[in-house]
Amino acid sequence: MPTNLFGKNPDRIGYPDQEWAVWVSGMDDIHDRETLGGALNLAQELNAGFAQSWFNSTSEHDPVMYAVVLHYGYAWTQATEHAHGRDCGIPACEPCTTKRSVA
Ligand SMILES: [Zn+2]
Repeated sequence: MPTNLFGKNPDRIGYPDQEWAVWVSGMDDIHDRETLGGALNLAQELNAGFAQSWFNSTSEHDPVMYAVVLHYGYAWTQATEHAHGRDCGIPACEPCTTKRSVA
């Protein structure tokens, strides 16, 4: 169970050669995805389901589950990628698009 998903020195929870993926807490499942959009869609779908089952749960001992988008193995947020000077992967992101066209 990783303790540090975000922040300055996050733990890598996926694979470094896997560009986009979705990781599920508790189950330690990693779902490979081709694109950020695909990963976000899956994460959102999973999280909606997890929220529903948590809401319906009658046991406080049920594990809290959530899905996180991974970029090269690290938990992804747009702000985290920018803070590390990386391309966030969002096609329409203006600062990253500018850098892409330069390269
Ligand atoms: Zn960006």
